[in-house]
Amino acid sequence: MQDAVNDDDRDAQEKLADKYPSLLKRNSWSGQLMPDRPRAHQVHVGEGWLPLIEELCVDISRELRKHPDLIEPVYAVQIKEKFGGLRFYLSIGTEEINNLVREAERKSYTICETCGQPGESRKDLGWILTLCDEHYTGRKALLDATNQLSD
Ligand SMILES: [Zn+2]
Repeated sequence: MQDAVNDDDRDAQEKLADKYPSLLKRNSWSGQLMPDRPRAHQVHVGEGWLPLIEELCVDISRELRKHPDLIEPVYAVQIKEKFGGLRFYLSIGTEEINNLVREAERKSYTICETCGQPGESRKDLGWILTLCDEHYTGRKALLDATNQLSD
């Protein structure tokens, strides 16, 4: 398993997406709204980053209220973790919105993706993840145990 996402995360992702369907529950290709389809959302990161994403959705929604014509065309096409950082891809964005996204992506490198506590990039887990000390230690122990089994 290569990501930090588990079943509890998936429920939390779903809840968040249901709060911001216009941004988070659209078909990536068509932009069609899918508010009633379970799991039809673009949020694929651990629970620790969901408050960061929620904050970003609030900020983007505030910007969009200034540009009502953009409410339909602006939506998330993919939200994921890459190299220990949040990647939040929008269909299109204004300069203000793109700045908000960059700011949230930058912040993600300081927040544990698993629990939301202060974290840092961990580069010796076989892939890069941003984790707090506790979750890093747990993962490292698991990895070391797995490596010993395959030796
Ligand atoms: Zn943690």
